[in-house]
Amino acid sequence: METLLNVNNLVTSFRTAKEKIQAVRGVSFSVDKGETLCIVGESGCGKSITTLSIMGLLPDNGEISEGSITFQGQELTKKKEEEMRRHRGNDISMIFQEPMTALNPVFTVGYQIMEPLNLHTNLGKNEKRKRAVELLNQVGLSNPEKTLKKYPHELSGGMRQRVMIAISLACNPSLLIADEPTTALDVTIQAQILDLIDDLKEKMGMGVLMVTHDMGVVAEVADRVMVMYAGNVVETGTVKEVFENPSHPYTKGLLASVPNVDEEDHSLEAIPGTLPNLNEKIAGCRFHPRCPYAMDKCRKEDPPHFRITDQQQSKCWLHEEVPSHESTHKAYS
Ligand code: SF4
Ligand code: MG
Repeated sequence: METLLNVNNLVTSFRTAKEKIQAVRGVSFSVDKGETLCIVGESGCGKSITTLSIMGLLPDNGEISEGSITFQGQELTKKKEEEMRRHRGNDISMIFQEPMTALNPVFTVGYQIMEPLNLHTNLGKNEKRKRAVELLNQVGLSNPEKTLKKYPHELSGGMRQRVMIAISLACNPSLLIADEPTTALDVTIQAQILDLIDDLKEKMGMGVLMVTHDMGVVAEVADRVMVMYAGNVVETGTVKEVFENPSHPYTKGLLASVPNVDEEDHSLEAIPGTLPNLNEKIAGCRFHPRCPYAMDKCRKEDPPHFRITDQQQSKCWLHEEVPSHESTHKAYS
């Protein structure tokens, strides 16, 4: 498969009055054409900051301090804002969690769909209108002509998210980044929107990078999964590997907290403790204060990524290959 996006050892930091803190701590991954990679983790783990780093949309006090991001072979971290604007909404598009805040309340749907076409194409007025109608059809909005004239507040949450998707698809992006695209929607609409994204990915051959805190969403759409904790990637693998054979204790905890709808008892087995603050100094594995398997070594040394299979990796000392004489020694000590 053709690689669209390659993120290598990305470190993203924020300057505060007192210090510089790292929100993303050396993250590496890639997204291929036609695949969906889900980044999953609790809020504050660095997943949104990772996508904003890719889009060149970090807040003023944020910066990429290390690493590289290449999109279709081009290095993005060195690009000027003006060059990044040529990518955004054109070959890389993004949809956000809350379409009410991402859409501009004072402009009609039609105006907002045509905006990326104005910016990135030379289409004439009629062609743009035609394209807008086609896009609204594509995202399953009936009566597109009428919808074009509406304002965001006149639409339901599900319709607004469809409009956002239409806007993001206007210029046929190669890569779609979706940050919690269904979190604000009710369950039925959520399923429809996920299906829609999946459908469009198949039809258009896009790569999709989706951010979510919800393992149910991952199961629904992901080809591959990347689990983040406190600024680190802790596990990657195919959706099958990660669900059937989770290798990192944090992933196991996330999966255990997915409610099983077939069971009467919907109680969640939550992971005890909370995500550390970004500026909290933690020696060794950053998950150790919450990890039920933590060993001495975990409190002292940060684990590297251990390879489990071709695709699956785990940042956990439990997967260290211990030479056989040592393991025997340990068993009897
Ligand atoms: Fe738990 Fe240690 Fe693995 Fe970290 S390295 S997840 S503390 S067992
Ligand atoms: Mg977020």
